[in-house]
This record gives sequence, C-alpha cells and structure tokens, in this order.
Amino acid sequence: MTVEARKIRLVMELRRTGINDTHVLSAIERIPREAFVPQAFQDQAYENRALPIGFGQTLSQPGVVANMTQALKADRRLKVLEIGTGSGYQAAILSRLCRRLYTIERYRDLSRDAEARFHELRLHNITTRVGDGHKGWPEQAPFSRIVVTAAANEVPGTLVDQLSPGGILVLPVGQTGREQILLRLTRGEDGEIFEEHLGGVRFVPLVAGVPAVVELRRVAGGAGPQGRTLA
Ligand code: SAH
Repeated sequence: MTVEARKIRLVMELRRTGINDTHVLSAIERIPREAFVPQAFQDQAYENRALPIGFGQTLSQPGVVANMTQALKADRRLKVLEIGTGSGYQAAILSRLCRRLYTIERYRDLSRDAEARFHELRLHNITTRVGDGHKGWPEQAPFSRIVVTAAANEVPGTLVDQLSPGGILVLPVGQTGREQILLRLTRGEDGEIFEEHLGGVRFVPLVAGVPAVVELRRVAGGAGPQGRTLA
C-alpha cells in the first residue's frame, strides 16, 4: 500500500470515530507524519497508534492528536501554547490551525529534533523552548488555547492563569497506568472556569523540572530504556 493510500485509510478511520472538523482532517492530510516517526517505525507512520520517540516518550496516536486538536477549537487568529513538544507532530498539526504556536519540552534533544523538523517542513510560526511546562510561558501569556500532551495528576494552576478570557485548555488528568480523563476547561469572559470531560485517554506523565544536562544518548530509532507505548 502506498503512503497516500495509508493516509486516506487513516483519515477515513478518523472520520468514522467522530473527527468532523475539516480543518483538522486536512492538517492531518498535509503534515507528513513519517517525518516525525523514527526510522524503525516508518511503515507504521499512518497506523492509528502511538509510536516510541526515545527517552521513554511517545508520539501520540493520530486519533488522539485529532481529537485533542478538534476539542481545542483552534482558529487562524489565535495564539496557542503546547506543553510536551515530543516529536513535534501535534505542534505541526496545530501550527496549520492557529496564528502562532509556542511549544515547551523538558528534553533538550527532543526539542532540538522537533525544531529541525519544523524548519525542514517550513513551519515558520512555531517557537520552541526547553523547560518545565508546569510554569507555562509567562513572557508570552496569555494564550487563547493551551494543550498539554502529557498527563498531570491535577490541573496545573499556572496554565489556567495563563489562559485568556474565552480561552480553552485541553489536557489529560490522572496517574500513569490508571484511567486518565481528557478535560476541556473554558475560561468565561468573567474569569469563571467551565469543565467538560471528553473521555478516557492514556498519556505519559507530565514530569516536574527538566532532566540533568548529561543525558544517556538515545539509541538511534530505539524506544529508549523504558520504551513505552502510550497515548
Ligand atoms: N505532543 C507530542 C507527544 C509527546 S509525549 C508529539 O506530538 O509527539 C509527551 C511529551 O511531554 C514528552 O516528550 C515529555 O518529555 C514531555 N513532558 C513531560 N513533562 C513535561 C513538562 N513538565 N514540561 C515539558 N514537557 C514535558
């Protein structure tokens, strides 16, 4: 099966599972997921499954990326923050649907590789940062949309604070290995917060702080020592 045929099959599967936002579907069609997938998993780039990206982290399942992106109600005029750059795939999809995308990753190597992909794909409206996403991005706040692609035990208050009035925060909440819930928080014009539950998900944990500078180098294309396939 050609890459094109696999891509069409994936988009049809996403439609069947309730992704009906045409902007989201066309972003999924236009962004080459294979550019974000390690060499060893190239043949699975258009399967609806999560794939390892090293450091025990994963590139989320396309269905989950589509679902979160749709839930975010992104818009060409808006400034969006993503926590957990990982491979950069979710950021690349979102960058097609917003004005400017800011993305934070705690692993320097993942951030650097993602940035190289953005450059290669000429996605010029993405700004990356290495740091702890719990802190958000105070210099650029507030954001109209915030998406967290790792699961926190509870909603990080700082991120809620960095949401503009009318803003939306989509994030998985819950412990690793347990049922996690995808939440959508909407800030009303008067600052009140509305909460919606969007179903069960599985994500790697949102970890506090950044790793020490000396890191074990990732084995090329490998899943890292504790390779795990979540989300
Ligand atoms: N959005 C990614 C999915 C990445 S998995 C993609 O499309 O590929 C979650 C990512 O969140 C991992 O890369 C992990 O290192 C990162 N992460 C976990 N805790 C973090 C934190 N506190 N701050 C920033 N990034 C974090």
